[in-house]
Amino acid sequence: MSRCLVLNANYEYLAIEERWIDALGLVIAGKADVLEAYPETVRSQYLTLPLPAVVVMRYLVRTRRRRAIFDAASRTVVFTRDGFTCQYCGVRVSMATGTRDHVMPRSRGGPDLLSNVVTACRACNTRKGDRTPTESGMHPKHPPRGLTEEEKLACLLKTVRTRERSVWQACLRRHGITLWTSRAA
Ligand SMILES: [Zn+2]
Repeated sequence: MSRCLVLNANYEYLAIEERWIDALGLVIAGKADVLEAYPETVRSQYLTLPLPAVVVMRYLVRTRRRRAIFDAASRTVVFTRDGFTCQYCGVRVSMATGTRDHVMPRSRGGPDLLSNVVTACRACNTRKGDRTPTESGMHPKHPPRGLTEEEKLACLLKTVRTRERSVWQACLRRHGITLWTSRAA
């Protein structure tokens, strides 16, 4: 069944409801409004309701945990951004074979942030070692950066469910919504 993207009252990403009934529950309880619906409707004895695709909370849910999702340079986030491609030699990597490379090594004070971490294959990571790009002559093809909105969705969804993604993406674009404004990248 279709998942629902839950936005906080400030339109930033809050959660994904795996079960549509939970998303609908938020709406029926008056805690959230439907911003985008799937074409299907849900029928109960008395009501016919649209199946929510994107909902917005009516009140701001304070949560610090959410901050980390798009700012942390986790393997999922870094590999997704770099298209699972080693930024030094261009070879394809998987979750199993890829490594995270700190462009400015941590031993030299390089931060563990998206703005300093790229995807590297094991061989390139080993070859570069603890050297800076200048010392090693190894420069990433694409300089490390924060995520685009599309990449954030890709990270959230993990599995590719094309319909959900396209419905959510269209809704976010139409409303000019930024899922998360990166503070740390
Ligand atoms: Zn490589």
